[in-house]
Amino acid sequence: MTKVLNFKQELTACFGQPVSENPTQAMIEAAYKHHGLDWRYLTIEVAPSHLSEAVKGARAMGFVGFNCTIPHKVAVIAHLDGLGESASVMGAVNCVVRRGENLIGENTDGKGFLESLKELTDPKGKRVVIFGAGGAARAITVELALAGASHFTLVNRSVTRGEELAKLLRGKVNAKVEFVQWKGDFKIPEGTDVVINATSIGLYPDREARLELDVSTLKPSMVVADVIPNPPETRLVKDARGKGCKVIDGLGMLVNQGVIGIKHWAGIDPDPKVMRKALEDIFNS
Ligand code: NDP
Repeated sequence: MTKVLNFKQELTACFGQPVSENPTQAMIEAAYKHHGLDWRYLTIEVAPSHLSEAVKGARAMGFVGFNCTIPHKVAVIAHLDGLGESASVMGAVNCVVRRGENLIGENTDGKGFLESLKELTDPKGKRVVIFGAGGAARAITVELALAGASHFTLVNRSVTRGEELAKLLRGKVNAKVEFVQWKGDFKIPEGTDVVINATSIGLYPDREARLELDVSTLKPSMVVADVIPNPPETRLVKDARGKGCKVIDGLGMLVNQGVIGIKHWAGIDPDPKVMRKALEDIFNS
């Protein structure tokens, strides 16, 4: 397409960093291309000391929104005009959306997980065991609780982090919450519906890292989910398949949070298959 340039009021950007090697970027841009959107999604590194100016810059340059990653998920809130419900409960934002003149913080990590889970089961009334108590665990448990999950067993190595998440959930959602310090192979209690790995165990390059879990306690009635997107076939995913469980891999969550982000920014329903394919091409290469 030929475009007439008038060179008025423009800044043209020159990023001194690779902008095409981020899997999320490849996934989002694959969707833009597939749906004929002449848009870009760029990965820009921002030092914590420059976060305030970066958000001002995003406003000034008319960004329709942006994602933010650790360490900006909490700090960015001070620079926004409002929060969606789950971002407000979690106290963390990973997706910012321009609505009129306002920048609103949302959290799509947990919502992405919820969408993947809903393809297999309704979380309402379900009993959940989750390993980990970091940002991913927080986002997932808050979203599942808002969707009606009734009981959480939080299993975490560090007591401080585990108890912190238990306290947050007890104060803000209706579900019952217990915390168990993770020591040795954890046995999944009878009656558990959903088992989730929300730790970083199994993330590339530690492909064969093992979650300390008594695999014999996994039952075919359980849904087992792993947040690790790379590699998607973690040892837990393989073990759970071997026990006849229904399985969700980490690509599902990543794709769905991207789908929700694009819906927020562009107002379209992107095709998740195209987005998953873009990730698989990267992670399998
Ligand atoms: P955090 O650093 O906030 O939390 C990490 C968690 O993993 C903590 O609970 C930590 O326990 C636990 N952990 C790490 N290593 C071990 C170990 N060797 N043994 C026991 N526990 C361990 O990270 P996030 O919560 O932000 O991210 C966790 C994972 O989720 C990452 O791998 C990330 O890639 C993935 N993720 C995937 C998404 C997706 O869309 N698929 C979205 C967001 C995250 P402790 O408190 O004891 O240190």
